[in-house]
Amino acid sequence: MAETWKDFTHKLVVDFCNERGSRTFTLQDFQKANDRKIRSFSEKNNHPFDKVRQQLQFLEHKGILTFVDNKGTYTLREPEILLNELSEEKVEFIHEKEPDKREYIRETFARDRGWVKEAKEKFGSYCLHPKCANTFNKQDGLPYIEVHHIVPLFEGGEDAVWNLAVVCAHHHKMAHFADYDTQKRLQDLFLEIVERRL
Ligand SMILES: [Zn+2]
Ligand SMILES: [Zn+2]
Repeated sequence: MAETWKDFTHKLVVDFCNERGSRTFTLQDFQKANDRKIRSFSEKNNHPFDKVRQQLQFLEHKGILTFVDNKGTYTLREPEILLNELSEEKVEFIHEKEPDKREYIRETFARDRGWVKEAKEKFGSYCLHPKCANTFNKQDGLPYIEVHHIVPLFEGGEDAVWNLAVVCAHHHKMAHFADYDTQKRLQDLFLEIVERRL
């Protein structure tokens, strides 16, 4: 069976994000970079760019993409890991996990990438949990810290600095794997702290 516009567009978005190493992109850049592919996808369609925009809207509706502004900027938010977010080849393993586990693993693999840098610049390199003393120095003398999405992407959280907390390994695991009440308490706490710091 021929590939549908839906599958074609979805794959194009993921490939595009992988190539550029970023989950955030503008419609204009996306269309420009994929001009030839979009034009040649189907001979039957005279308005392939409209078709692609329609599919992007569909992906947005399904929560796979979100609009981050009114200027045609999208963010890919499905919990699947992008190639540049991986530091080890564990894709197979990750695909079998439930969304929250996948998200945790994605964050864990991404800790040396862009988000971490941005969050560290804003929040420093020590766990945001009040009175936490778990942060330790690595062999290179720098503090070991993880970056956490306070509201998970798959629950509608944004891939943006106001939804990121820097946390120690212990509090990070708690935020993902503790009982529901504890998770909720930590989420409220981190949201409050981050809001105060920004
Ligand atoms: Zn996390
Ligand atoms: Zn901590």
